[in-house]
Amino acid sequence: MDKLQIFDTTLRDGEQSPGFSMNREEKLQLARQIEQLGVDIIEAGFPIASPGDLEATRAVAAEIKHCRVAALARARQEDVDAALRGLEHAAKPRLHLFLATSDLHLKYKLRMTREQALDQIVKMVRFGSQHCEEVEFSAEDASRTDIDYLTQVVLAVVESGATIVNLPDTVGYSTPDDYAKMFRDVRARLGAYPDIILSAHCHDDLGLALANSLAAIDAGVRQIECTINGIGERAGNASLEELAVALHVRQDRYAVTTNIKLEMLYPTSRMLSSITGVSVPPNKAVVGANAFAHEAGIHQDGILKNPLTYEIIVPEKVGVPARKLVLGKHSGRNALRSRLDELGFQTTDAELAECYRMAMLQADAEKEITDRDLISIIHKVRRGQAPAPAAPGSSAATVR
Ligand SMILES: [Zn+2]
Repeated sequence: MDKLQIFDTTLRDGEQSPGFSMNREEKLQLARQIEQLGVDIIEAGFPIASPGDLEATRAVAAEIKHCRVAALARARQEDVDAALRGLEHAAKPRLHLFLATSDLHLKYKLRMTREQALDQIVKMVRFGSQHCEEVEFSAEDASRTDIDYLTQVVLAVVESGATIVNLPDTVGYSTPDDYAKMFRDVRARLGAYPDIILSAHCHDDLGLALANSLAAIDAGVRQIECTINGIGERAGNASLEELAVALHVRQDRYAVTTNIKLEMLYPTSRMLSSITGVSVPPNKAVVGANAFAHEAGIHQDGILKNPLTYEIIVPEKVGVPARKLVLGKHSGRNALRSRLDELGFQTTDAELAECYRMAMLQADAEKEITDRDLISIIHKVRRGQAPAPAAPGSSAATVR
């Protein structure tokens, strides 16, 4: 199986979106966690943007030694100088250069011709590769760039020293088929450079960031740029946790491996939420509060018989802690009632008494019991399968 490089841009693309700005200490704390998570590259910042961003990039670069640290720069001398300062103490630095290549961006934003942009790109990639051991080039708005011009740019940057070429769907416009075709067309023209790594960077404006990233992998891309909780400009980037879990669950379909430690996904997601104060929606895949909650009675029943009926991944696998209830002599009964209530079971007094009796029987020496134990118990009580006197009135209880 091929190795897929995971390029985390939570500290750059994620951090620059509204509500997610982080100070130097917060960035450091998150960078340490993301390194532990097993990503290959951490994009630490965009040093020309502000003195604070430069300082945070320098701090992350000085501390993170196992993964590569990238700094972003437009293809302009002052940007590159700032990025190189940011990377000064990095053990494994990567200069990440970009310039827009679509006619729309060239004409209205940069006010440059295609030829002027190409000259500028080549000049800065050459300079960058003389001053940094690894250079990535991103053709901003690649998915809306004329394919012949895009290929011309890609060949030129590769000939000038870039070894990773990122073709972002900057505005989240592409579809999986379009995006895969672009990569195949570009790869076909890179015949003389089989070692060049093509990279995808997708935005979720149409809810397609993960689908487009997976399509890119199918088309031979071996680096995906993504973020924790999918944060990023506008609707955000492809979410790292969704990508990692999709590749794990569907190993049969995508023959690539990553170094991501799945059990660290949930703790990392929680750390980002607590640093920024922005939590993920309850229905968010993998890390949302409801991602592993089963409300419908039929689903709960299936899960208890065999979790595979409704769960394609066990929550513990991605680091969701098994929620345990502590049953004490005095507070236990109320705690049990409220926990059952949170799980969607409103109990009668008789049901509660019976559940409590069974829970105490089942509880281990620490008097702890998991949610799954509780669901099993309430179902047994309601089916009249309790080992002792059946609970009266169980048919009157409701399952929300
Ligand atoms: Zn982006």
